[in-house]
Amino acid sequence: MPARRILPPPPCIWPSWEALMAEALAEAGRAAAQGEVPVGAVLVSAQGAILGRGRNSPETSHDPTAHAEIRALREAGLQSGNYRLDGTVLIVTLEPCLMCVGAMIHARIAGLVYGAPDPLAGAVDSLLDGLDPPFSSRRIWRLGGVAEEHCAALLRDFFSRRRKPSAPRRADKAQNLLRRGEHGH
Ligand SMILES: [Zn+2]
Repeated sequence: MPARRILPPPPCIWPSWEALMAEALAEAGRAAAQGEVPVGAVLVSAQGAILGRGRNSPETSHDPTAHAEIRALREAGLQSGNYRLDGTVLIVTLEPCLMCVGAMIHARIAGLVYGAPDPLAGAVDSLLDGLDPPFSSRRIWRLGGVAEEHCAALLRDFFSRRRKPSAPRRADKAQNLLRRGEHGH
């Protein structure tokens, strides 16, 4: 039987990683309220203090780098007066993209906890292993699938709500085309 890797427990003031994920989910909910794809993140110190919070906001801030993870890292860097965030753990509702993985390596965080996998852009487990590049001697540990169903449901609900208003119009258009076809012959 392969040896199971031992992952660090959450900082002792937090009962579980799920409890910290609830903080990230609250940020994701705020993103959805602003019409942004609901992804949220928090960065915690080894002692459990939340150093930074972030929610996805590229649309409202006209900034392609405004992912939840980047915003949480920026806030933590400003609060700490240091871009090196050694010993911290990033908790995010969706598997990070390549840009965010790069930022995590630059910030020297210790670990990553994520909720739902991202089959379209996930650069941790889904599409590539960005946390273990050949040029970095540091290892960032990762734990995926924390509160996965809750994180994924938030995204599913957001996209199904966004699709709904245009769906009847598309159906009408198809019907009209059919009718035109009928009358054309
Ligand atoms: Zn990203």
